[in-house]
Amino acid sequence: MGGAMIVTRGLTKRYGDFVALDSVDLRVSTGESVALWGPNGAGKTTVVRCILGLSSYDGQIEVAGMDAACQPKRVRSLIGHVPQELAFYNDQTVIEAADFSARLKRVDTDTVEATLELVGVTSHAYKPIGSLSGGLKQRLAIGLALLGNPPILLLDEPTSNLDAGSRESVVSLLHDLKSPERSMVLTSHHIEEIGLLADRVIVFETGRVVLECGPHELSERMGLRSWLHVRISAGTLDEAALALSARGIRAWPNRQGVLVEVPSQRKGDALRAFDDAGYPVVDFEVWR
Ligand code: ADP
Repeated sequence: MGGAMIVTRGLTKRYGDFVALDSVDLRVSTGESVALWGPNGAGKTTVVRCILGLSSYDGQIEVAGMDAACQPKRVRSLIGHVPQELAFYNDQTVIEAADFSARLKRVDTDTVEATLELVGVTSHAYKPIGSLSGGLKQRLAIGLALLGNPPILLLDEPTSNLDAGSRESVVSLLHDLKSPERSMVLTSHHIEEIGLLADRVIVFETGRVVLECGPHELSERMGLRSWLHVRISAGTLDEAALALSARGIRAWPNRQGVLVEVPSQRKGDALRAFDDAGYPVVDFEVWR
């Protein structure tokens, strides 16, 4: 992991007498994925808005060594942002929205196609955005944020408006987008996605940082869930996932195996369930 990509010092946000952020010190390294976690109203979105220059603040924010208050445009150009509420024109097609976004960002429109491919919306390129599912819209939003290949992705509650199936596919996409050249900051109150996506968790409560820890530690503290990626015989992924689901274990086939969500303390039970159902486990990895 490289040097500091985002640093805040004494970041404070007041709305009148109300203190939404109280002297927050953060550091996100190059290539690091950090989750801002905490209940609604804790201040996570406010941090994102300040970093983007959408909100005034006291204290200091540095992005790639630049003071965000002095060089807001340059800082903004380093950040791909996926807002919580997507604002699309429903009549526009996917490709029109992407071309428009590329021109706004002064990004070569030749890169649009590859970006749509990367986020898996190529086959929907000529459909109006209004006809897409929530998951596809979110993939498109992530694609637009990636135009120009910015070194920072800021994602505000990237799965909060999605059903379980689309959530899993968006989380899987974001997992694939992790890279040593890209820092990610995501706000979330879903422990599962934090477990999969974050290298580090910063816990907020009423505008203050109350804890910094690894995602494992957060799950342990919350008595929560882990994800196992289980390799079994390649032709049996779909049926094995169904068999596990029938046994009450949340399981999804993906390209190379089956992804299983289990209570952190009971990983062994899930592995035994594969064997019991007749799908011998070849190998497994604890994703988180
Ligand atoms: P989170 O993202 O963790 O849910 P937010 O950053 O959205 O929290 O909000 C932090 C606090 O700031 C909340 O108590 C919220 O009500 C308050 N807040 C946010 N925006 C405004 C505003 N424009 N005026 C007054 N209070 C606000």
